[in-house]
Amino acid sequence: MDNIEKINEFKKIINDSNNIVFFGGAGVSTESGIPDFRSKDGLYNQKYDFPPEEILSHSFFIAHTEEFYKFYKDKLNSLKYNPNITHIKLAKLEEEGKLKAVITQNIDGLHQKAGSKNVYELHGSVLRNYCMKCHKFFPAEYIFNNEAPIPKCDECGGIVKPDVVLYEEGLDDMTVSGAISKIANAETLIVAGTSLTVYPASGLVRYFRGKNLIIINKDITSYDNLANLVINDSLGNVFKVIE
Ligand SMILES: [Zn+2]
Repeated sequence: MDNIEKINEFKKIINDSNNIVFFGGAGVSTESGIPDFRSKDGLYNQKYDFPPEEILSHSFFIAHTEEFYKFYKDKLNSLKYNPNITHIKLAKLEEEGKLKAVITQNIDGLHQKAGSKNVYELHGSVLRNYCMKCHKFFPAEYIFNNEAPIPKCDECGGIVKPDVVLYEEGLDDMTVSGAISKIANAETLIVAGTSLTVYPASGLVRYFRGKNLIIINKDITSYDNLANLVINDSLGNVFKVIE
């Protein structure tokens, strides 16, 4: 099959499926202009005082909160980005009742911005932030538009922490078990914009026992041999065919 035939086949599977789950990685957001954490010129290769993996760790957050926030506000502010065609078409499929869930490794909140409701954010979200003392909720604007070097709770003065899974922190059990249940019960699973090498993406896909496994990625993945359809193209090119 050439690429055009593959994209037609994708369209046909989507038309015929009423229980679709989408599992997305960084590649979904790069088409909105958000840098991929792990790509050659992504976030992890940009210059900073410390390696990003160290800054984005729990122990660094606790020990060097001000440094953490300098980096965080500079590099992870997704408020200025907009959903792309993939986010928009996925929200539309959900509204039509065909798509049951979006599972994402991204923390930028762009699926919600596009209108998706049922989103499992494995690594948390910059849109949610909590006071470490009294647990009061704060939106992303409270962090990114905050002039103070460390955002503090306006009620108790406690430090506000993003609800993002940092290195050394575990994933949220409810989110993971919810994602597994959606994958295990899906008829069609679309895995997109991830090489499936990073935990927990690789493990979660193994729960799928439905009919159609579709992989859309620019490069090969370790699950290509198990998929019914593998498309090596940009996500926008593929999703634009959905009406
Ligand atoms: Zn508080």
